[in-house]
Amino acid sequence: MKSLEIKKLMITIIFNLAIFTITLAQKHNIMILATGGTIAGVGQAGSTDTRYTAGKLPIDQLLNAVPDIHKLANVKGEQVAQIGSQAMNDEVWIKLVSRINELLGRKDVDGIVVTHGTDTQEETAYFLTLTVKSNKPVVLVGAMRSATALSADGPKNLYDAVAIAADPKSNGMGVLQAMNEKIYAARDVTKTNTTGLEAFGSSNFGPVGFIFNGKPDYYYSSTRKHTLRSEFSNERFTKLPKVDIVYGYANMTATAIDAFVSSGSKGIVMAGVGNGNLYPEAEEALKRAVAKGVVVVRSSRVFSGRTTIDSEVDDKALGFIASEDLNPQKARVLLQLALLKTTNRDKIQQYFFEY
Ligand code: ASP
Repeated sequence: MKSLEIKKLMITIIFNLAIFTITLAQKHNIMILATGGTIAGVGQAGSTDTRYTAGKLPIDQLLNAVPDIHKLANVKGEQVAQIGSQAMNDEVWIKLVSRINELLGRKDVDGIVVTHGTDTQEETAYFLTLTVKSNKPVVLVGAMRSATALSADGPKNLYDAVAIAADPKSNGMGVLQAMNEKIYAARDVTKTNTTGLEAFGSSNFGPVGFIFNGKPDYYYSSTRKHTLRSEFSNERFTKLPKVDIVYGYANMTATAIDAFVSSGSKGIVMAGVGNGNLYPEAEEALKRAVAKGVVVVRSSRVFSGRTTIDSEVDDKALGFIASEDLNPQKARVLLQLALLKTTNRDKIQQYFFEY
């Protein structure tokens, strides 16, 4: 080869390398923390048979199904747990938030995606929005069809979640949950369907944004405290207090409430009827619980609306707390965190107004 040609070749290589380095530097760095769920589930390949086992495939295999994801961002995966989210627990939550806070504290991490089963996704999302100490995006995502199912929804959902995490518009939105091209605030999202692809909703507020042409666009954001404004994001903890949920119904007995109290619950969330109303025997049992120092929050088994303070139930006189529009499972998360700080009824009621 002539020296001129060698020079030309060298210049081309250096030029391409420079472009490659610039592109790499411009792309955001997104970490995917995997916890299992149907998105990593395995059943009979390409089949409509709905039987499968959640949380089987490792994150690298999930990423292999979406090669274009690497055009959106520099994406790396890490396995934090490998469970169906029906088995989600405080230990995994604490591990997850510690890792997220560690990663987001680094300059070379711009956002996080958490792959998660859909059953308890709303609880993990709310826990994280209260405890993550960063403005950078954190997005929870899952799937309703296993990774091996015919027309699996996981790959597109994962792609969208990375698009959300890599988009600067997502900064400061608090933890988000995204599936089926809709984006919800962690506080407001709830699972609304047991099997359908449109499995999430927010009965009181709707989505905060949508995915259009592979990119997020936002219309609203939650004004309730989260992430950097949440005082729970300053809290260091290795355990969470035991808080249980009791379901209300006609002709209810006090058995479950008394059993939780004697098993050492520090808090009880009552999924009451209507506006968090209480069957008389349940009310008596909850009064006994309060007298023993257990903190009682009234929520509702009704899908939408608020559980309002001092309506048919005199919360102040009885020492109960109203959950506002938090459903029982979300109220449980806030109460667990609140109990790390105080058992004072008025202070905890205030948290329910603010978070
Ligand atoms: N049971 C599964 C889970 O929550 C369901 C799902 O991911 O859709 O892990």
